[in-house]
Amino acid sequence: MFEREREELVEILKNKGITNKRVLEAFLKVERHLFLPDIMKQHAYKDVALPIGLGQTISQPYTVAYMTQALDPQPQQKILEIGTGSGYQAAILSQMGARVFTIERHHDLYNSAMKIFDKMNLRIAARCSDGTLGWQEFSPYDGIIVTAGGPSVPVNLKKQLADNGRLVIPIGDKKIQSLQIITKISSDEFLTREVPYFAFVPLIGREGWKEK
Ligand code: SAM
Repeated sequence: MFEREREELVEILKNKGITNKRVLEAFLKVERHLFLPDIMKQHAYKDVALPIGLGQTISQPYTVAYMTQALDPQPQQKILEIGTGSGYQAAILSQMGARVFTIERHHDLYNSAMKIFDKMNLRIAARCSDGTLGWQEFSPYDGIIVTAGGPSVPVNLKKQLADNGRLVIPIGDKKIQSLQIITKISSDEFLTREVPYFAFVPLIGREGWKEK
């Protein structure tokens, strides 16, 4: 279902500069409409963020593709995602062969994503907690991707990254953020590249924004 729409979306992503073949293949295979409420399914293959309830969104496909390309997950690598939301980003990472761990702070979104993972037979480890603290038990991670925008880089996430691992995280104020692409050289040495003008929902937690 929706094969032609997925092909068209992949053409849009290519035209916007996404070049990683493995990322583009994952976008062809993962069915975004399965992660959306019924009334939103008809919009699933437009390159836009869409509401998924509780004031949260499934990110714009271009943003998911850009962040995934920046993370560049390899098969069997351990990847931690903060902000499961609909579960779509986690499914893209899993489709690319990564071992995926994902954390969501809202119980309802966590439950709904778990149901979709089960239905699709995706082996993704998920928990409901504050992702700014990471998931110590399974660390270190080869990659960490944060899909909500925080005021600063959570120390725990940097600690739980493996040497040569990469952390992709939007940092800024509540309206606009830069994407920081951070490579861990050693426990006290990090290389950071910054890409401006992204807009995410807020990362709320002990090492994020405070809840109102
Ligand atoms: N990756 C998601 C997807 O594919 O649908 C996009 C999710 S949305 C842009 C960001 C998510 O981060 C929201 O579901 C929000 O509840 C969650 N979030 C915000 N702060 C969090 C935290 N500290 N720990 C875990 N999840 C958090």
